[in-house]
Amino acid sequence: MKQSTLSTDFISSPLLAVPSQAKTTARTYLDKRVTKTQRESKRTRSQRARERLRTKEHLERLAVGLGEVELADKLRRCHSRLSVLTCGRHIARIIPNFTCEFRLCPDCGRRRSRKLQSKYLPMMRGFMLHRKVTPVHLVLTQTHRKESRKQSAKRINDAFKKLQRRSFWKEFFKGGTWSLEFTKDKNGLHHTHLHIVGFRQKFFDIELLRSEWLAVTGDSHVLNLKPISDIATGLREVVKYVSKPLDIRRFGAEDLREFLKLKNMRMFGTFGEFRDFCKSFVPSDNDGDEVSELESLARDLTEGCACPKCAAPLFDLRLSSDELLRFYEGIESAPPGKVGTS
Ligand SMILES: [Zn+2]
Ligand SMILES: [Zn+2]
Repeated sequence: MKQSTLSTDFISSPLLAVPSQAKTTARTYLDKRVTKTQRESKRTRSQRARERLRTKEHLERLAVGLGEVELADKLRRCHSRLSVLTCGRHIARIIPNFTCEFRLCPDCGRRRSRKLQSKYLPMMRGFMLHRKVTPVHLVLTQTHRKESRKQSAKRINDAFKKLQRRSFWKEFFKGGTWSLEFTKDKNGLHHTHLHIVGFRQKFFDIELLRSEWLAVTGDSHVLNLKPISDIATGLREVVKYVSKPLDIRRFGAEDLREFLKLKNMRMFGTFGEFRDFCKSFVPSDNDGDEVSELESLARDLTEGCACPKCAAPLFDLRLSSDELLRFYEGIESAPPGKVGTS
């Protein structure tokens, strides 16, 4: 990946990504998203696990309230019993008893986003190598209107399709991946964003891209573009929205009802030349894929094997989701070098 050159579309700080003529509200909104992401990455494993547990309990209550008994039951059973392969200090692998595969389930979402990462990372590396393109993280936003979540998603998807047909886009971008993020403001208006890992083949002026986006949306010029220096991190950042398309803590029964109607809506996809490349891609030994390697390594481990991190023998623990939480807390509070449980 080339990093020696700088271009006008490379914005050093995401906080300054919106130009001065943009509305203040839009700028504040994007800024909040950035700080939220940074805050999330600082949380400990037990805090994130507790968050997932609470989110599931909340979803389960909403499902019960809507009379969605089957969904509530699935959510309750999902990841409720776990087989944990551990040395007592590190966790080599967790196998859940049951996965609900509900699109808003945070546990299943994590699994799904890991699968996407291990599938697309080698393809992205291969594409960058063969086509000499550099990756950027592009966030496209649209103005808020009184509309349903489905309408909001359709509107931004349609605009993005139009953008891809324009000669400007074809000249500078060679495809990539997209994922959808939904949020709702306190007035109940939907904010739908498209997070794109775009493969750019030439530098361009961000103001040009902004005017192109305005041309296809008719009323929106707010976007954010930042360079991706490490493609693995860049991809993770984008598939995160596959596991967390919206803020469930502020999610009510009506939101769930509306979401259940969106059964077939796609939340992640590839586009342009990158999509064609993926279809014909055959991984080679040189397309080093650490995600897959790590996963296959973990798959091969069994009780009695040496922990990949500290070489202590691994053993199998059967835990409930609450017990796993306490196990994480135990590991986090144990002094370094000391084995928490054995
Ligand atoms: Zn689940
Ligand atoms: Zn260990």
